[in-house]
Amino acid sequence: MAIFYECQRCTACCRWPGQVRLTEAEITRLAAFKQLAEWEFIQRFTRLAADRRGLALLDKPDGECVFLEGNDCSVQPVKPQQCRDFPNLWNFPGFEKICHAIPHQVSEDEDRRLLAGLTGPL
Ligand code: SF4
Repeated sequence: MAIFYECQRCTACCRWPGQVRLTEAEITRLAAFKQLAEWEFIQRFTRLAADRRGLALLDKPDGECVFLEGNDCSVQPVKPQQCRDFPNLWNFPGFEKICHAIPHQVSEDEDRRLLAGLTGPL
């Protein structure tokens, strides 16, 4: 058996400190979704990652994700893989105290199917 966490879209993970790294392919998809040229998307919505090796999403002054609108992700269909993967493919000790995702016991086959849904092609 495996545990699969079902996201409840509470948006807590969109509000806590950290950085969302972006791949080149994600920048291409996000820019197209926002109907912007890539250079313009990069200028308006990204910053240098903390290790200076690539780009990360900008935060708003209060620390929440630049694409959070109220309680909705405004780029949900093309959101970065790092966002899709939490908390099933990465998390941190004690994450359950702030993340409202519901744990379900599932078979290994079902877990693979559900994980493929998170990480599959957009
Ligand atoms: S992953 Fe967890 S913290 Fe993020 S929106 Fe889903 S339930 Fe909330």
